[in-house]
Order: sequence, then structure tokens, then C-alpha cells
Amino acid sequence: MFRFLNAFLALGVLIGGVAVARAQDAPKREIVQISGDLYRFQNKFHYSVFLVTPEGVIATDPINADAAKWLKAEIASRFGKKIRYVIYSHDHVDHSSGGEVFAADGAIVIAHEKAKRTILGEKRPTAVPQITFKRRMTLELGGKTVELRYLGKNHSDNMIVMRFPEERTLFAVDFIPVKTVAFKSFSDAYIPEWIKSLARVERMDFDILAPGHGPLGTKADVTAFREYMTDLTDQVLEQARKGKSLEETKAAVDLSKYSDWGQFEAWGPLNIEGVYQRTQLNRRGN
Ligand SMILES: [Zn+2]
Repeated sequence: MFRFLNAFLALGVLIGGVAVARAQDAPKREIVQISGDLYRFQNKFHYSVFLVTPEGVIATDPINADAAKWLKAEIASRFGKKIRYVIYSHDHVDHSSGGEVFAADGAIVIAHEKAKRTILGEKRPTAVPQITFKRRMTLELGGKTVELRYLGKNHSDNMIVMRFPEERTLFAVDFIPVKTVAFKSFSDAYIPEWIKSLARVERMDFDILAPGHGPLGTKADVTAFREYMTDLTDQVLEQARKGKSLEETKAAVDLSKYSDWGQFEAWGPLNIEGVYQRTQLNRRGN
């Protein structure tokens, strides 16, 4: 009986293990309505949005070629529309890849002018933008509007935000995590300019924040994240100015009021490290 039970338990664990592995392997793809004709597309841990108009669809980050193929087929079957435009939030591969899937059907690709430069320079696996802009651009299709704005450097030097005025929603990727600390140690980031661009987002007119990762938020989440970035940088700078080491800085900085945020334990110390390393670069005059 004992043997049988053990074998049974082992089988149960095995089946459970296989089920868990399958759930992780299968890409979680989903389309959820945000407001009106604006929808959110999820591919595992990445999200983008798309707007359905009588004259076709305005898509945003394709995420990757497989995700883009799935989305194109879903949009065709659910809405009977073609994708007319695709807008990249920034050049990073995990969001911009796969644009060729939409461009092959005639979609026009739009991005910031610096994103085009990086996509070409770094040979990103995606369609090269045909339309670029420097500060702002308004795109109209089928009586609907999306406003594109460059708010300065932040998580990259070519990040734009997309505002859907009728749907009162802002799509902003990678530089405004919702109730989550910043990603690891700020690679490819411009921290003082980042805080300024958050303040610019707070002055924009919208209610719903649709980020590139994690759940939807509101404008209050933008304010909270700007305050986090300000607390983080002010405290790290204070220690660095006193000549404290990284370990001493990590011990002294108190961000406990954000302890209920996502990734606080895992990435919080890396956030401190990322800001601290930059203060050392500045000290050396680079
Ligand atoms: Zn990114």
C-alpha cells in the first residue's frame, strides 16, 4: 500500500510538473477591450494596444513575429479589418520586433526619428519606419485619433507615448511600471531626463495608463513612480556625495514605503546600484 501510494504520488507530481511546464511554454496571448474601440494585446509578459476604426486598425508594438502573426489573424477574424499603421514605442527588440508581418500587408510603420536610426544601426529584426517625427505627431484614421509624443530621454533615447484622447488612455512602455520598481539596474537609461519625462506625462490629459508590462494603471501611478524615482536618486546621491561605498549606500537608503510594490526585493537593490554606478561615472568626469 505504501509503495502504491508513493508511486501514485510520484505520478501525480510528474503530471503536475508536465502541466506546469506546458502552461509556461504556451504563449499567453489575449485581447482585452480597454475602452471603446481600443484593445490591449498580451503576449506573455509583453503588452501593446490597437485601435479599431472603420477604415482599418492602428497597431502598436508588434512584440515579435509570431505574436504579430497571431494578432494579425485575430484582428482579421474578429473585426474584419486590415492593419493600416503600426507604431513602435521605442527600438528595443522585445517590443519592436516583428513589424515586417504588418508591413508586408501594406501597413505604414511610424516611430521616433532616433528609433529609426537605432533600428537601422543595430539591425533590429523588424520593418524600418517609413514615417518618423521629432516632437509630436497626430495620426487620424476613420475619424479616430492617436497623438504621438516624444517626452525626452528616459528608458531609451527614442521612447514615445501614444495618447488615445477619445478612449482617455495613454500607452507608455517600459518607463512607467505600475506599482512596480524599475527594471534591474537601468541599462540604456537617462535618469534625470526620465524624471522630467514622467512629470510631462502627469500634465497630459488621460485616465487609463496602459503599460508595456503588467496590469493597467491610472495617472496616480505615474505620480507614484516619479516620486519613487525621485526618492531613489535623492537618497543615493546624498550617500554618494558623502563618499559612501555601494554597500554603505544600500544599507542607508530607505525605500520601505514602496515595499509592497512588485519586484521590490529582487530589483530594488539593483535600482540603487544602477543609480550609484552613474554617480561614480559622474565623479570621474565622464
Ligand atoms: Zn525597452
